[in-house]
Amino acid sequence: MAEYRETLYESYGQAFKIDKILHEVRTEHQHLIIFENQRLGRVMALDGAIQTTEADEFIYHEMLTHVPILAHGLARKILIIGGGDGGMLREVCRHSSVDQITMVEIDNAVVEMCKAYLPNHSNGAYNDPRLQLVIDDGMNFLRHCTEQFDIIISDCPDPQGPAEVLFSEDFYQACHRCLTEKGILVAQNGTPFMQLDEVKTTAKRVSVLFNDWHFYTAAVPTYIGGAMTFAWAAKDKVLRHQSLALLRERFAGSGIVTRYYNADIHSAAFALPNYVLQAIGKADNS
Ligand code: SAM
Repeated sequence: MAEYRETLYESYGQAFKIDKILHEVRTEHQHLIIFENQRLGRVMALDGAIQTTEADEFIYHEMLTHVPILAHGLARKILIIGGGDGGMLREVCRHSSVDQITMVEIDNAVVEMCKAYLPNHSNGAYNDPRLQLVIDDGMNFLRHCTEQFDIIISDCPDPQGPAEVLFSEDFYQACHRCLTEKGILVAQNGTPFMQLDEVKTTAKRVSVLFNDWHFYTAAVPTYIGGAMTFAWAAKDKVLRHQSLALLRERFAGSGIVTRYYNADIHSAAFALPNYVLQAIGKADNS
């Protein structure tokens, strides 16, 4: 029986039975494989790390889009860095209040392969007239960007290979420059039980740039090691503390039906376990 073993960690990992390989290629940037698994549906991995599965992608994509967009309340211009599978784009497109989406993906092969073999992820979102798709390194794009966005979503893999630069000081500085006064940056930031250094490093780098920074969590089963963290960095301190009543009102008003996100989950997601608070220097009893 063929199986796919994730090689993200030396001494611990997950394996998937490969029922059918749909596509495998070494692109200009990375090794890409998409295969079918009876329990998780279609699975994509890049350079040995699971990127997304049809079964649990909704958790990750709903939490990295609806949390910042509904916290902001008036988000019109969205920037997605990475996100080639199209799931993040699909969820952003569900907000009728959004009128411009720029997506910067380094590897066109990921976009093309995911359109072909993971069609449910983008679900037609690549045809949305609000989208401007840019094939470029996110860091390079931001370095030359003169626009400002209301929300920047960094939907990148683990900080290895082409994605490493998306966790750099330069990247966060460029995001800060390209955000409006009420702008919010959210970013995939690993599973702290396995990658605690990632939250420590991000906390150190964003805390010197943004008036308000924190993390929020959701458990995405195939990002192994327990709940994963999403970095939150904003210029406006109020946005992270919206009332539950306001979030409920905005969520209802959006008319979006979700499978994971709701206003209570949104609020609760910012509560962090002590070991993470201690790692980022925010524990009361640290
Ligand atoms: N959900 C995944 C995770 O949390 O690991 C990430 C999903 S998405 C497939 C990651 C995307 O980031 C890939 O399409 C990859 O090609 C893209 N990417 C990697 N480095 C990048 C860079 N420097 N600029 C833009 N896109 C990048």
